[in-house]
Amino acid sequence: MDLGIKGKRALVTASSKGLGRGCAEALAAAGVDLVLNARGADALEQTASSIRDAYGVAVTAVATDITTAEGQKLVLDAAGSIDILVTNAGGPPPGLWSDWERDDFIKALDANMLTPIALMKASLPGMMDKGWGRVVNITSQSVKAPIPQLGLSNAARTGLTGYVAGTARQVAEKGVTINNMLPGIHATDRAVSLDGGAAQAQGISVEEAKTQREATIPARRYGTPEEFGAMCAFLCSIHSGFIVGQNILLDGGATNATI
Ligand code: NAP
Repeated sequence: MDLGIKGKRALVTASSKGLGRGCAEALAAAGVDLVLNARGADALEQTASSIRDAYGVAVTAVATDITTAEGQKLVLDAAGSIDILVTNAGGPPPGLWSDWERDDFIKALDANMLTPIALMKASLPGMMDKGWGRVVNITSQSVKAPIPQLGLSNAARTGLTGYVAGTARQVAEKGVTINNMLPGIHATDRAVSLDGGAAQAQGISVEEAKTQREATIPARRYGTPEEFGAMCAFLCSIHSGFIVGQNILLDGGATNATI
């Protein structure tokens, strides 16, 4: 299928690895020029150069922490006028409900709620002026089915989801869509670190921890950044203009719900 977005320009934050990279690759495969971001410059430059070589699109790389005001300014200045925005950042640490103080919540809200909101506020006016735009926020399965030990993530991402629900319906008439993608477990560094934690807690190997987790997923496997990216590229395509304010779960059936 021709996604119809060749020559458009996208900003994908937190995209040197994992799901952000998956989205960047799929957009590049559709002919989209990219602005990529991550904190670590080496991995980011490697990803940028590999995408340039593979797809022949223009790629600008901005190494900075996207959760800071200075980082956001650097990235937005480098991005200029964009047609597509994919927001992403690292997830907050796990813990118990009683572990967290105000500062922990502020950090999580900054990373997983206020950063995507700031990026949308900066990018939406230009998209609305052009009469076309696409925003995809990477959130989590935990928005639909909270994960008890990820209280910081549950709180921040649900806040973002509420903001998007209203905003998406205010900008849709200008040809701009905003949707969220909700990953269940995917085979990225984040999954390796979660499996490592489970292995340590239970005194089993990382491979055993992975096998146990896979058994809880109806698809009996982890998702891949490639299939996640393919859905992201579709949501950013010319074919998705009637998909507005949705929360799209990619979890291999793990969330046990009818709707
Ligand atoms: P990942 O493989 O660890 O990759 C994270 C990417 O984001 C890296 O490129 C990292 O590069 C960059 N990054 C992290 N913090 C950043 C920051 N403050 N500023 C700029 N770049 C930053 O993670 P992932 O699995 O793709 O997860 C992406 C998001 O989806 C996370 O919020 C995660 O919590 C959520 N999620 C993932 C899963 C899963 O199973 N993978 C499930 C549910 C939700 P640097 O470290 O160099 O900055």
